Amino acid sequence: MITLRGLTKRYGDIVAVDGLTLDIKEGQVTGFLGPNGAGKSTTMRMILGLDHPSEGEALIDGKPYSSLRHPIREVGALLDAKALHPARSARAHLVSQARSNGIPLSRVDEVLETVGLTKVARRRAGAFSLGMYQRLGVAGALLGDPKVLIFDEPVNGLDPDGVRWVRELVRSLAAEGRTVFLSSHLMSEMQLTADQLVIIGRGKLLADTPMADLLASSSLASVRVRVPSAEDLRMMVDQLLSYGDVQVESPTGEDLVVKGRSAEEVGDLAHRLGVRLHELRTVSASLEQAYMELTAQSVEYGTGNTTVFETTDSPVAQKAGA
Ligand code: ADP
Ligand code: MG
Repeated sequence: MITLRGLTKRYGDIVAVDGLTLDIKEGQVTGFLGPNGAGKSTTMRMILGLDHPSEGEALIDGKPYSSLRHPIREVGALLDAKALHPARSARAHLVSQARSNGIPLSRVDEVLETVGLTKVARRRAGAFSLGMYQRLGVAGALLGDPKVLIFDEPVNGLDPDGVRWVRELVRSLAAEGRTVFLSSHLMSEMQLTADQLVIIGRGKLLADTPMADLLASSSLASVRVRVPSAEDLRMMVDQLLSYGDVQVESPTGEDLVVKGRSAEEVGDLAHRLGVRLHELRTVSASLEQAYMELTAQSVEYGTGNTTVFETTDSPVAQKAGA
């Protein structure tokens, strides 16, 4: 588990990280989301002891990074994939890391295999593509078989295969019971990867929530109902509309799209009315939609600046507070 308590970092007048208090739990992937400059990398650097908090603290299993006995065996991190000697081979890079940390060399070949770099392990890293650097960075993070993993924008520069590979890898690491903390500004990818979301804007915490709850709580989430009898359908619509705060559409004459009530509430209503249903399901909003609503509501964000968020499809610009 990673624990942040009032974690704050100031650079002169800039408050890069502003009083973050939260727990990042084991056994799940926690996605760390926020636009560029929100403070994600600074937070991760403080967790890893690479930057000193101005206030507050970051703990790994209850201890600051600096007091861990064997840091590489407790926390693995990928921060800046290109931060290694370009003339060294991938294998030599990992071997030197292993040697200085008392890790057996057999583990080097194991992690090279895991990240798919076995065939190019003896090539100069300087000739690697960004995607290969990212894989080598992940290998370094896994070297000490740590229980806590921190990845800063690991899918940057990866092709679709690489993106899927990272997703499957982090999900399997979490399934093994590890703590996985992963930042990204790519929302569609995050939606597929994370169980829990920590969202920050300008250093401040905007949300710390299970992904499913955030998506279901969006006003854009809806309940789809299929009612085979036209008479029943009319009865359901009349009752739902009588509530005043519910929106109902009937796109096909058999299907209803209900906004403003949960699937449980719609199901209970059908039961009370004796209406037979052939389908009842929640249609969640996309993470991008839920994020837009969240930041539009956020007081911290309402200063008129434009936040630009990149999605895998196209750049999305949002006028904050709009
Ligand atoms: P993110 O990773 O979310 O894009 P960062 O943590 O890199 O955000 O940056 C947060 C803010 O802190 C930005 O305004 C950035 O310019 C500032 N910042 C980060 N590192 C430094 C530094 N070493 N010196 C001064 N300002 C910094
Ligand atoms: Mg960053």
